[in-house]
Amino acid sequence: MGLEEVQMRNLDHRANRAGWLRAAVLGANDGLVSTSSLMIGIAAANKSDFLVTAGLAGIVAGAMSMAVGEYVSVKSQNDIEAADREIEISQLATDPEGEFDELVHIYMKRGLSENLAKEVVTSMHNKDALEAHLRDELGHFDHTRARPVQAAVASAIAFTAGGVVPLIGALVSSSNQVNLILVFTALGLLAAGFISAKIAASPIPKTIIRIFMGGTLGLVITAGIGWLVGLTGI
Ligand SMILES: [Zn+2]
Repeated sequence: MGLEEVQMRNLDHRANRAGWLRAAVLGANDGLVSTSSLMIGIAAANKSDFLVTAGLAGIVAGAMSMAVGEYVSVKSQNDIEAADREIEISQLATDPEGEFDELVHIYMKRGLSENLAKEVVTSMHNKDALEAHLRDELGHFDHTRARPVQAAVASAIAFTAGGVVPLIGALVSSSNQVNLILVFTALGLLAAGFISAKIAASPIPKTIIRIFMGGTLGLVITAGIGWLVGLTGI
């Protein structure tokens, strides 16, 4: 099998989508649920005269907090990976025999005989010892490396895309806004479930049900609290 064919086969795997997919699904789902919940909560409190304003504010605030949160969390993951890399560099410099044995044991645990493992590690060390240790000891792969800016942008765009759906519901007609928000949100949750199942190649019905139930639960709880607030007249 040629190198090109190996690379083509690797494209079949979804691991390289993990980073932005997680941020995008989380963002879209969060945008849908928090924006619609915000508007439904306000409607339940009988303060529906500024639903659209609240929805817009919710989208901007949510997209910003998602982006900043994603950037900060992925950046700290990057920092951890960079620190591990430095430790590995110094261990390879100060204790090359120990590092050699460590990788031999890793390959033996994966099923190689001791002699074969030593042969493999010798070749790996001759080619690029650091890369071999980062990959096989620490599990650092270039295609799964955390990309903070990509994750932040993906989650902000996804949040906004999710949040716009209930907002359109509120904009379609000034009467019946609550029902329209609910219908648009339900359709949005179904679409988000279908899209993420397709991208992740996960079972479609199960993924749709999981995202739909989670979103609905968020909506019901917020509407309940909004209704209570409305009752108290705060
Ligand atoms: Zn090592």
